[in-house]
Amino acid sequence: MNLQMELQELISYLNSQGSILKYRQNELVKSEQVSTLPTGEVLIISSNGPQYTLTIRQQPIFAKLGVASLKEDLRLQNELLGHEQEVIHICEDAKLLGSEFYVKGQIKGKVLNELAIQNLSISDRKLVFKEIVSFLCRIHSIGQSQSTFNYKAVIESLRIQYKTHETRIQTNIEDLLYWLQMNVPEQTIQESLCLGNVELNNFIFELTEIKLISIQNWNSVQIGNSYIEFARFLSNYDVPYVKQVTDYGLQKIHYLLGLQNKAELINQYCIERQLDSIKYLNYNIIIVLLQRAIFKQQCIKTKVNPERSNIFQQELEILSKSAWNMVLELTNDDPFLVKSRVESDQLLWAQYPVSQRCKSYYYRIRDFMRDEVFPIEQSQFDIIYSFNKDNHWKGLPGIEHLQRRAKSLGLWNLFIGDPVYGKGLNNLEYTFLSELMGISFFGHEIFNCYAPETGNIKLLIMAATDFQKEKYLKPLLEGECKTFFAMSERNVSSSDPTNFETIITKQGDGYVIKGSKWMVSGIQDERCRFGIVMGKTTVNPKSPFTEQTMFLVDTPHPNIKFKNPLAVIGYDEAPHGIIEVEFDNVYVPKENMLGKEGTAFAMSQGRLLGGRLHHSVRLLGLARRCMDLLLERGSRRIHQGQKQNEDSAFQEKIGRMECDYQICKTMILNAAMILDSLGGRHMQSLKAVSETKAFVPYKCQCIIDECIQLFGAQGITTDYILQLAFQACRGLRLMDGPCELHKKQVARFTQGSHMFNELINGDGYIANL
Ligand SMILES: Cc1cc2nc3c(=O)[nH]c(=O)nc-3n(C[C@H](O)[C@H](O)[C@H](O)COP(=O)(O)OP(=O)(O)OC[C@H]3O[C@@H](n4cnc5c(N)ncnc54)[C@H](O)[C@@H]3O)c2cc1C
Repeated sequence: MNLQMELQELISYLNSQGSILKYRQNELVKSEQVSTLPTGEVLIISSNGPQYTLTIRQQPIFAKLGVASLKEDLRLQNELLGHEQEVIHICEDAKLLGSEFYVKGQIKGKVLNELAIQNLSISDRKLVFKEIVSFLCRIHSIGQSQSTFNYKAVIESLRIQYKTHETRIQTNIEDLLYWLQMNVPEQTIQESLCLGNVELNNFIFELTEIKLISIQNWNSVQIGNSYIEFARFLSNYDVPYVKQVTDYGLQKIHYLLGLQNKAELINQYCIERQLDSIKYLNYNIIIVLLQRAIFKQQCIKTKVNPERSNIFQQELEILSKSAWNMVLELTNDDPFLVKSRVESDQLLWAQYPVSQRCKSYYYRIRDFMRDEVFPIEQSQFDIIYSFNKDNHWKGLPGIEHLQRRAKSLGLWNLFIGDPVYGKGLNNLEYTFLSELMGISFFGHEIFNCYAPETGNIKLLIMAATDFQKEKYLKPLLEGECKTFFAMSERNVSSSDPTNFETIITKQGDGYVIKGSKWMVSGIQDERCRFGIVMGKTTVNPKSPFTEQTMFLVDTPHPNIKFKNPLAVIGYDEAPHGIIEVEFDNVYVPKENMLGKEGTAFAMSQGRLLGGRLHHSVRLLGLARRCMDLLLERGSRRIHQGQKQNEDSAFQEKIGRMECDYQICKTMILNAAMILDSLGGRHMQSLKAVSETKAFVPYKCQCIIDECIQLFGAQGITTDYILQLAFQACRGLRLMDGPCELHKKQVARFTQGSHMFNELINGDGYIANL
């Protein structure tokens, strides 16, 4: 209705109607008493008191069910509420407001909330719930729609809402989305009329007795899944009561309030709707709890009530945990059906303290690799080998597609131990996943666990300011860009970070970088948006480890010049590349300093420790893949009338390779456990990680080299990944500190602990020296 134009006409009309004058005790309607509600209804407040207030409605409540006439609409409302409602006037003349309308008086009733219900007697409390369930049964039975409910679309839209309003990783929400997606109901559900809002305060009860007489907001009425609506009403029974956080939670306390239990309400609903059972009830309650949790996340993100952010976060956690507990109960603690797989993989898991969650990721990744990664691997290699100038540094479409898929399945950023940004897995747990990813050359990239992004993400989590986290960390976590890490220099020994000559000088409100970096991986990739550059901000020979500082540098930049593209054993590492780069007076604002001035060395040690372990475990996966290729080939290749794998020399070599592989794996798992229990700064952690870096790349290289040898000439061609695997191991023996450095480190620790060996000073232990 166009209130301004039609207001006077409407007022005169209302004032000419005897029924209205009678209702308002002869008080005439005045223009200042009239207003339009957000629901589209018109409200006319009376100065004589609320009991003389009027509401005008033009649109039928049940329009969504195809009801066009207001009379039919009112008939349905009366049928639903089980009594004749007081309608003061019906105007069938469409000329006045463009359509017919009716006028109702103020409903004389009471609205209850969680607190008000506690003041009722026990029998009245029960009646409140009974009345609501009866009402829901009636509205849900009133008529079926032609449409069917699409569970898949609902789960997908929840996933999008979660991602859009993500403030931190919510592992329960991610697991719930995945589980719901895995278990979408098979049968279709016919949609029907739903109330749209089953909050207690949407129902109006009679003043003197517990009888539902009306609804506060009819406008939320919609077509939907009635079973989900009932599940919404029931969902509080699965939420614990936590004072001032989830005051509505009824789990285990409903009986204290004297309320029916869940089964009684379900029973009532089934009887009144004449159902044998409620379809997918638990699945629906889980969806509802998840919807409610994501709504809380939305409240945090959109800052609707910033003072309540902490409460919203607690509510979110309680709601998502409640839903997850239901899943665990329903699936006998085996939501991802891994129990039997874990049991049959006893050798793999042995007695390692690895969580069920990690194991479920393991099998999810394995299925994903089997179904989606391996089938497209060869096509991606074909692209790499046929790269020309035009497409050389572009992302591989197949890999980018799989990245989107892996991300949508929550198989993403698994290396991040910090639960705010990642999955919260520890080093030991990630080791199992990383080896698995490593069996494909593209695995780590697909799951956003790829270097140098992994190290850069860790540095940013560790040291970035809020501004830097928003601008640099966020897109990296989303996998929206690539990065580089520029530390090494051609002209100096880069094993020693005190040697770097790149100079970073203060200029105005920022800094200027001048120098040349080399072996810079990833900067040629078209998707590279920034990188971390390390250089000298002060010259202080007395304290050489505090001379260097790190800066975040945006790319492309006119003063960052590509000097000398490199190839690692003939492979240019496309599409990421490896190159020498000149920083020719590159200006960076002071906000781009990462960490404090002079802390680059300490930070790079932090970055490298976990990274070194990750490097080793990646190679373990590659070595395993090469051995599998060889074992398969050995079972088919015939040498002098005999299968290759029947030859004793072949068997001896396989035995040795397997021993080496197991030694490497045990070393890595041992280092991961030490790192988890003692932390990154502990001497034993440094020693254990150095042991792996000194030993594993070399041993994996030997395994792969032997595989190539036993494979024959094809092993060294681009037909198989063996040559790439060899190249990767060879490079890794130098990267992040050459093996010799780590051996020296291990030697230092060994010599140190030797001195403290109490047996040495005892009789006879070193008697013959
Ligand atoms: C594939 C690949 C990718 C790389 N990507 C990057 C990158 O993205 N960013 C980056 O900044 N750098 C990168 N690097 C560089 C790498 O980190 C350096 O090559 C490494 O730190 C070694 O430095 P260097 O080459 O100067 O060797 P040097 O320091 O000159 O050492 C040469 C050799 O001398 C021996 N040696 C050195 N120091 C000692 C010592 N103290 N005791 C005993 N022996 C010693 C070792 O045998 C060593 O291999 C990459 C390297 C490779 C191979």
